[in-house]
Order: sequence, then C-alpha cells, then structure tokens
Amino acid sequence: MVSFWPLYDSYRWWYSSRSSAHKRSSIRYMEACSLCQKSKSLLTCACCEQSVCKNCALFLEQDRLNFWDQRPVYLKASVFCPPCFDSKVQPSLERYDLQMKEAHQLSIFFDNQGKETRFLSRKEKPIEVKDLADREEVLLKLAFQAVLAGFNGLIDVQVISEKRRNAGYQTQVYRGSGIPTMLPDRKLAKS
Ligand SMILES: [Zn+2]
Ligand SMILES: [Zn+2]
Repeated sequence: MVSFWPLYDSYRWWYSSRSSAHKRSSIRYMEACSLCQKSKSLLTCACCEQSVCKNCALFLEQDRLNFWDQRPVYLKASVFCPPCFDSKVQPSLERYDLQMKEAHQLSIFFDNQGKETRFLSRKEKPIEVKDLADREEVLLKLAFQAVLAGFNGLIDVQVISEKRRNAGYQTQVYRGSGIPTMLPDRKLAKS
C-alpha cells in the first residue's frame, strides 16, 4: 500500500505530459493557412480568426474607411482571408465609395447663406467633426456624415481653424459643424 502512491503520482505525471504533448501537436496541426495549408508566414484573419498565410491574405489599407467612424471593429483591422474579404469587406468598400460619391455631390450652405436656406428645415441636431487637416477635409467629412444619416444637404456650415501646440511646434487643425437637412430640389438648391 505504501508503494502505491509514488506509482500513482508517476502515472499521473506520465498521463498529463502525454496529453499536453498531444495538445501541442494538435495546435501545430491547426496552424496552417486555411487556404493553401502552408505553415509559412502565418497571419490571422480579423473576421473569422483563422490562420491565413501572407501570400493568400488580402489587406485593407489602414485609412481606407477613415471617414466612417462608426464602422465595425473588424473593418479597422488590416488582414483578412479571401472568403471574409469577399463577403464582409468588399461590400463595405463598395457601399463606402458610393456614399463618398454622394458626399462629394452634397449641397453645402455656409452660416452666412441664411437667406438661401431660410425655408429649409433646421430640426436635426448639428453634425460636428474635429481634428482634421484642412477645410476640404472638414467639409467632406461633414457631408459624409450627413449622407450616412440619410440627408442630401447641410446648412449653417461653419469651419473653424484652431492652433495646437505639439511638442514645441504649432500646428493648425480644423473643426466644423453643420445641420443636416433634406433639400426638396437639389438642382434649385445648388444654383
Ligand atoms: Zn496560404
Ligand atoms: Zn476569414
């Protein structure tokens, strides 16, 4: 009876080391590209989290969807397997480009154009953007947010530049605001 316990312990040791070796080998087996099965230069798909090698992976540029602040977290990542890129990323890119095109065409009226916009609805909450590089970026980002919210115009638009001190240097950043609205006739409003 006395000699039973050391034996039992060594059996336990043998069993646990065997099972962890088994676990390790099954992990190694899983670590292959989900497409080509090669195990070199593996990355992880931001959507399905499967391994995908550098050659098979598709990449999303870091600032490609920048103006879409509220995008899903995976669209802030850069590595995707081709099936996830086709089903999740590509449709988002296409929609983004269409919305960006609409944003470029959106009618913008500044806060000194009250005469032209006096009959337009001002019941929506103003859209605000900040920390942008220049005036054009402020206008485009405001327009893009208005498109996302389903509007075709912005009124009472203001663009303000601010000086910023950054490690001894002074830089200029821009912010802006505008009220999204629905223009009854785009052609008329644009003239
Ligand atoms: Zn591969
Ligand atoms: Zn994937």
